[in-house]
Amino acid sequence: MEEAESKATATPFECMVSRFNSAARKLALDEDLCQVLLTPDREIGLAIPVQMDNGRVRVFQGYRVQHNLARGPSHGGIRYAPDVTLDQSRAIAAWMTWKCAVVKIPFGGAQGGIVCDPKNLSTPELERITRRYTASLIDTLGPERDVIGPDITTDQRVVAWIMDTYSMHVRHTVTAVVTGKSLDLGGTVGWREATGRGCKIVCDQALSRFRMKRENTRVIVQGFGNVGSMAARILHESGYLVVGVSDITGGIYDPRGINVTQLLAYAEEAETVIGFPDADAITGPELLEQPCEILLLAATESQITVHNADKIKARIICEGANDPTTPQADEILYDKRTFIIPDLLAHAGGLTVSYFEWVQDRQGYFWNLKTVNDRLEEIIGNSFDTVASYADCHGVDMRIAAYMLAIDRVACATRARGIYA
Ligand code: NAD
Repeated sequence: MEEAESKATATPFECMVSRFNSAARKLALDEDLCQVLLTPDREIGLAIPVQMDNGRVRVFQGYRVQHNLARGPSHGGIRYAPDVTLDQSRAIAAWMTWKCAVVKIPFGGAQGGIVCDPKNLSTPELERITRRYTASLIDTLGPERDVIGPDITTDQRVVAWIMDTYSMHVRHTVTAVVTGKSLDLGGTVGWREATGRGCKIVCDQALSRFRMKRENTRVIVQGFGNVGSMAARILHESGYLVVGVSDITGGIYDPRGINVTQLLAYAEEAETVIGFPDADAITGPELLEQPCEILLLAATESQITVHNADKIKARIICEGANDPTTPQADEILYDKRTFIIPDLLAHAGGLTVSYFEWVQDRQGYFWNLKTVNDRLEEIIGNSFDTVASYADCHGVDMRIAAYMLAIDRVACATRARGIYA
């Protein structure tokens, strides 16, 4: 009841502030600096008039929030959805700042969006919306200012239109203004699977911390979209035993292990994991409570709550999705000694490879897949070790440690630059 109430009233930004405050208190950060770090550097609201296919003009609402520029230009996604709000963009931009700082990528966080339902818009309408949004933001975008990537509901087409519009306005081709591009336009190899690969790297690190072996490690994966399917595939290929998978339609479970390569082929055709032969059907919520060593959450937010936290049997939770565990569930899991690899770290693989794309675009020199994957492994692996040592040293869990490390790094940069007040 208490949790239901707090969820009903807390906005995404307030949730971020509550995690921030816990970490800032441990760091004994002074109040003025907290205020500087919490307040977004820039928030832009935009009216986007667009001519629709029927000849009428419709005005869409758009946003771009650049949360913090202390460590470099801002970087973050763009989302097209009916529930996009300024508060949501503000929260995701701030999370992105902390995520970049945890893995020591020289970006601050940003996030933008347009309030619309892409399912009800034609491709030409989406293109016009994207181009007008980009043109309106022209002075605040750029490889040295703010770099846009795709988010849920946007894709390679959208970032290509942004890149083209930006390039037309500045009169030369600027590939590094966006990430997540196709290879033809200056994208990078390894981008599509980067978030899933990052999840596998942190799972490997957790295994070596607990002296566990991959072949004895049962994994349950919630969510079989970009992150979940790639992570499941890479874990399966690396020798982990994937015993359960779910998507929005339900789950499948086989304690002897699921052949993820076959499941991928099946799900592509059937557009669901349900009905996969040789595995039992199970509901999504029940799957989360089955015995396993690793529970990989790659679906959506608030999946582990006060209602199911004490039934979770996994030794390790890997948060591939944004904010899948509520703060109240965190406390229950902490008492049960469940080891949580927090979202700030667990899904930073995508951001890291986006950074590689920006670097390669600016160099005009492109790396092969081995180089991308080796560098990703080095960054995510080292970041896991740093967060784990920070947690041990300060006697806090991995989540608070990740926030503390991130906030400390942004605070250090802010202090070193001085506040131009
Ligand atoms: P996606 O839309 O490709 O896939 C989401 C998957 O989750 C789908 O299979 C969907 O059916 C499933 N799902 C939704 N609700 C579910 C539920 N209640 N139970 C079980 N399955 C459910 O999204 P994605 O790109 O894979 O992203 C997943 C999460 O990871 C999101 O929270 C996203 O913000 C976060 N994330 C994604 C990336 C990335 O690179 N794609 C990077 C960082 C964070």
